[in-house]
Amino acid sequence: FLQGKVAVVTGSNSGIGLGIAEELARAGADLVINSFTDRDEDHALAEKLAKEHGVKVRYIQADMSKGEECRALIEKAGQCDILVNNAGIQHVAPIDEFPVDKWNAIIAINLSSAFHTTAAALPMMRKAGWGRIVNIASAHGLTASPFKSAYVAAKHGVVGFTKVTALETAEEKITANAICPGYVLTPLVEAQIPDQMKTHNMGRDEVIKKVMLDRQPSREFATVEQIGGTTVFLCSPAADQITGTTISVDGGWTAL
Ligand code: NAD
Repeated sequence: FLQGKVAVVTGSNSGIGLGIAEELARAGADLVINSFTDRDEDHALAEKLAKEHGVKVRYIQADMSKGEECRALIEKAGQCDILVNNAGIQHVAPIDEFPVDKWNAIIAINLSSAFHTTAAALPMMRKAGWGRIVNIASAHGLTASPFKSAYVAAKHGVVGFTKVTALETAEEKITANAICPGYVLTPLVEAQIPDQMKTHNMGRDEVIKKVMLDRQPSREFATVEQIGGTTVFLCSPAADQITGTTISVDGGWTAL
């Protein structure tokens, strides 16, 4: 049902962004995928997705830590019916030791990029008379953990920015929502499992349930397909009146 729509997904050459891009393509959307790199494999990934799903896919390099590149991504896309702000990084340190450059990078990539892409995309959505903005926040957009000051601040900021976007577009056929994932099994997380097994001298299942997912009551990771499926739902007619809110995909984390 998304044939003819163009979806721009930031930070989508791996992990959750790639999962979201795949589910949107499965629903028929053409894609613009993105990261800050410009490698052959980035462009090959675009070709592979196009072939697999029979949709048009372009890879556009843009560094989401730079406002003008965020805006240029949308301008180069030329059409942006669905905007998924997914690019994000993490750094863990106590506040009084938190490196200033890491703080600035996290606020820029995880929060300010959504402001810049949204500002550039809204005129296109208004012209088309339809638009969907899906911001990938986090359980850390609703709750906190020690040592993640920049990340938690940025993700709470994303939730607030999503609400303002929804209010400014409320009378148009444009919605803005945030998805708040708990712990998601991405290649990055998968790669940490063997180390954690060694450190805690536990088997795979035990280390996942007892160590990695101690805050996720389901004791199961969310999957990139589930985050992608939730994004597709937010682009579906069933979600036409869902705007300015958050959907948690966190196995009960924020119910605790
Ligand atoms: P990931 O590291 O696999 O993916 C991050 C993506 O962002 C990559 O494609 C990377 O290339 C891109 N990126 C990083 N810096 C960039 C920059 N400056 N410009 C453009 N692209 C850039 O991580 P992920 O787990 O897939 O995370 C994706 C989003 O989901 C992030 O916003 C993250 O905060 C959020 N999230 C992840 C989890 C989880 O458990 N994995 C949980 C909650 C929220």
